[in-house]
Amino acid sequence: SELQVGLGNNSYTIVIENGLRHRLPEEIKKIYSGSKIAIVTDNNVGMYYGSQLESGLQAAGYETVLITLPAGEHTKDFMVLPRIYDQLLDFQLTRDELIIALGGGVIGDVTGFAASSYLRGVPFIQIPTSLLAQVDSSIGGKVGVDLARGKNLVGAFYQPKKVFIDPQMLDTLPDHYFRDGMGEVIKYGCIKNAAFFDFLKTMHTREELMLHIEDILYTCCDIKRRVVETDEKDTGERMLLNFGHTIGHALETYTDYSKYSHGEAITIGMVAITRLSEKKGITKPGTADEIEALAKQIGLPTEFQVGEWDSFLAIMTLDKKNLGDHLKVILLKEIGESIIQNESISFFDDLERIV
Ligand code: NAD
Ligand code: ZN
Repeated sequence: SELQVGLGNNSYTIVIENGLRHRLPEEIKKIYSGSKIAIVTDNNVGMYYGSQLESGLQAAGYETVLITLPAGEHTKDFMVLPRIYDQLLDFQLTRDELIIALGGGVIGDVTGFAASSYLRGVPFIQIPTSLLAQVDSSIGGKVGVDLARGKNLVGAFYQPKKVFIDPQMLDTLPDHYFRDGMGEVIKYGCIKNAAFFDFLKTMHTREELMLHIEDILYTCCDIKRRVVETDEKDTGERMLLNFGHTIGHALETYTDYSKYSHGEAITIGMVAITRLSEKKGITKPGTADEIEALAKQIGLPTEFQVGEWDSFLAIMTLDKKNLGDHLKVILLKEIGESIIQNESISFFDDLERIV
């Protein structure tokens, strides 16, 4: 199936189809008549899908280069960019030629940023291969890299020309990363789609989820598409996607990105902030328990411990999306209905007591 992301001149389609990886050369042929394509991937994804894609594109008449970076968040470091630019220059890729990001969120973000800046911008295509990348990071045009001082501190809004999603590529994704992506999948149900949330409650294993994966990806991408269309540059409605992320990000930073993966951290965050807003009478009673039950069913954690609450709360107020001592928090009225609300940091006063 296909989804159209309507962003004026920057519009593009998302194609979701089991087995799509085998048809990529012909799909690319339809939209790109240049001669060179640079593929950027990491060593894990490259091992499974790199040479197949490269030889397919060569058979379709393209001249290719495969740029393979080490797997892991370190590859999103700003200092990796010169290596990518150098290889693009060695390959003599010009401004109207194409770059493909083949991989998870790390490869999508760093490749997208390289594409946005190399020769002041060359077209790029996303082929997301992790669940997180397929439902979240490959759509919406946020690209960027990390600095020593923090994650995602340098970046751009730069939309891909196309997003090709082959759900079957998830077959090789390690369980840990599959669960991690499920954190974001649950989030979409929470903020926009109660029926989808209820459907997820009937899923008990990864195998079962994979039987419905095309529908699941379609539902998530459709929500992200709509939110991004309303608010491409993230000044309003798009903030709804940050449900669970205020506490989640603080938890990731507080534990130095070593204890919780992103999906785990935001799951904990979704449950915790919903408990707080239930107590304040904003959220329908029982909602936090419902999210917690679904998270546990998927194998995601919902509880956490913090040693030093003052520094944890300080991290939360320093979050780059918050100004002064007021922060915008995303809360649920109930499952499927989310709101953006201005709160002072005292909103979190009870957090220590409810975890
Ligand atoms: P990742 O790219 O590191 O991928 C996770 C791991 O899975 C890696 O080891 C990778 O090699 C492996 N992998 C990926 N696909 C595979 C497959 N099909 N088979 C086997 N192994 C596979 O991490 P991620 O979780 O995909 O993405 C995290 C990154 O995404 C973070 O840097 C985060 O900041 C970013 N992100 C960006 C946005 C955005 O809007 N741009 C949104 C959310 C997250
Ligand atoms: Zn997230």
